[in-house]
Amino acid sequence: MGDQVSRRKFIATTTSAGVGLAFTRVGQGADKPAALGGKPVRGKGYASWPPVTSATEKLVGEVVASGRWYRGRSVDEFEEAFAKINQAKYCVATASGTTALLTSLGALGVGPGDEVIVPPYTFMATVSVVLMHYAMPVFVDSDRETFMMDPGKLDAAINERTAAIIPVHIGGAAADLDSILAIAKERGAPVIEDACQAHLGQWRKLGLGTWGTSGCYSFQVSKNLCSGEGGAILTNDETMANKCFAFHNCCRPYGRSSAGVAYDGGRNTNARITEFQAALLLGQLPHVEQRAKTRAENAAYLSSILGEIPGIVPARLYEGCTRSAYHLYMFRYEREKFANLPRNKFIKALRAEGVPCSDGYGPLNKVGFIRDALNSRGYKRVYGEAAIKDWAERNACPENDRLCQEAVWFMQNMLLGPRSDMDEIAAAIRKIHAHAAALASA
Ligand SMILES: *Cc1c(COP(=O)(O)O)cnc(C)c1O
Repeated sequence: MGDQVSRRKFIATTTSAGVGLAFTRVGQGADKPAALGGKPVRGKGYASWPPVTSATEKLVGEVVASGRWYRGRSVDEFEEAFAKINQAKYCVATASGTTALLTSLGALGVGPGDEVIVPPYTFMATVSVVLMHYAMPVFVDSDRETFMMDPGKLDAAINERTAAIIPVHIGGAAADLDSILAIAKERGAPVIEDACQAHLGQWRKLGLGTWGTSGCYSFQVSKNLCSGEGGAILTNDETMANKCFAFHNCCRPYGRSSAGVAYDGGRNTNARITEFQAALLLGQLPHVEQRAKTRAENAAYLSSILGEIPGIVPARLYEGCTRSAYHLYMFRYEREKFANLPRNKFIKALRAEGVPCSDGYGPLNKVGFIRDALNSRGYKRVYGEAAIKDWAERNACPENDRLCQEAVWFMQNMLLGPRSDMDEIAAAIRKIHAHAAALASA
């Protein structure tokens, strides 16, 4: 049985990928893993990030020289362009992805006593913004196959206190928007998409972040389009655009940057982006489409060859996800198919082969900052001690706990090179698979 599987695998890889042949032989042969003193599969790095170009340098230099450093022409130009490439009507750029989410919830009037539904497999900011509004985070467990909020568990989490649902397009792939939007509509709950990793990702050929009441982007330095820090809100709803603008800019009306303000609109903050950030973003815009295509093509090929390796299960895309942004390339590692080699040793061995990777997120529903926030004076007063006491139990996410133990990630810049880079990644994993028992006992 084992022989048959490896033969079939060998035939499949050699016929489906001519370029992979040389690597396949290395992987199947006696070549020692780098972690055991062998030669690493890859001897050089990947595309450096962020992408520094003279065009960007020039645009930032022009802002410096102009003396117009406050939100103005460059921000306007970027907002218009970013709305356009995502087929959205309105864009409000912000200081960060976190403040884009904070602003969206603020525009919906989310506050103490409200509940906001979030997935557990995400960056902490998805939840920290809920806490900033003194609302109660409610976790819906992950679907391990897709790494996304399990839409089958969403309806049960909604009640009359639900003020928003935040699906996260984690890794840049799409959450199951058909199901989530249908349930949200039926139950009358607004949807704020966390598209902070999803630049140029699509659901049914339309931009992610344009399906909910609003969608939030991050331009933090690691993101596929970046300006050190930065963010944006997309929406097709004029009222939402106005409210977001006011919330993020001291209650000022949309389209007005400074003078003559009435300060109407309720709670608000300064979460403005600067001209410098906008210039950095404008400099990259001519390249984002090509980069998105390259990542998606390389990722599809990588999935086809990694899927042949027993114990490597790439994250499944929903049928409606017509393009993943692949901010992260995520897969599950099943140690039982690797002679029980623990994930941390697998990661160490893969890094030794010259392939950087990480073990991704821990269970967000169990982190200390949520526990401490819920045990604060304000939370206890609003929600009562009893509700806070059994919060952890009510928000258990067993599927996500398992996912957090199995996940392995590659970063987006590793998908920007030639297709042969993907063959190298697969060769490195095949080599580890072939020597898993020796690595486990080393
Ligand atoms: C990056 C990120 C954020 C926050 O964005 P910042 O710009 O770092 O504030 C929120 N959600 C997700 C899923 C992210 O990846």
